[in-house]
Amino acid sequence: MTSDSVLDIFRRVGALHEGHFRLTSGLHSPGYLQCALVLQYPQEAETLGKELGERVRQLGADVVLSPALGGIVIGQEVGRAMHVRAQFAERQEGKLTLRRGFTLSGSDRVVVVEDVITTGGSTRETIAVAEEAGASVMGVAAIIDRGADPGRLNLPLQALVRMEVPAYPPGSCPMCAKGLPVTKPGSRV
Ligand SMILES: [Zn+2]
Repeated sequence: MTSDSVLDIFRRVGALHEGHFRLTSGLHSPGYLQCALVLQYPQEAETLGKELGERVRQLGADVVLSPALGGIVIGQEVGRAMHVRAQFAERQEGKLTLRRGFTLSGSDRVVVVEDVITTGGSTRETIAVAEEAGASVMGVAAIIDRGADPGRLNLPLQALVRMEVPAYPPGSCPMCAKGLPVTKPGSRV
């Protein structure tokens, strides 16, 4: 699958948005991709999961770990494609944690799967969850990479689309400078 064929899916379901948005990272951006709108179609989710699964197969992971909520659906599909378990970490009192009886051990080899990586903050937190449980993190996979710095992740990163839509701190946002109202996307992007 090429980056363009993935973007075609986003366009087809109306998941490619343009405007003036405040991202979860706090940065302002003229556009974003709403993964949930694509992932609501199980066949599309399976297709994207299969493609990501192929790309990370050589890492030899035996469990997928995703941050809730955004990473759960695609994590499940990558797990399906790789025939491995798919777990998710969720926030408890602000900190990502394994709950619901999920456990990782020292023999587990983990691939962290996200829908979108922007600053890499939640990705690093998810990596930390696995490492604190004693597991080895082999790499990271995401549908969309908005320009994460692989050096800061210090792990192999695979993404179906690398899309550096500009993102600005509010103080230097050209759309704010023009007085355009900023909106918050419907969920984490
Ligand atoms: Zn702005």
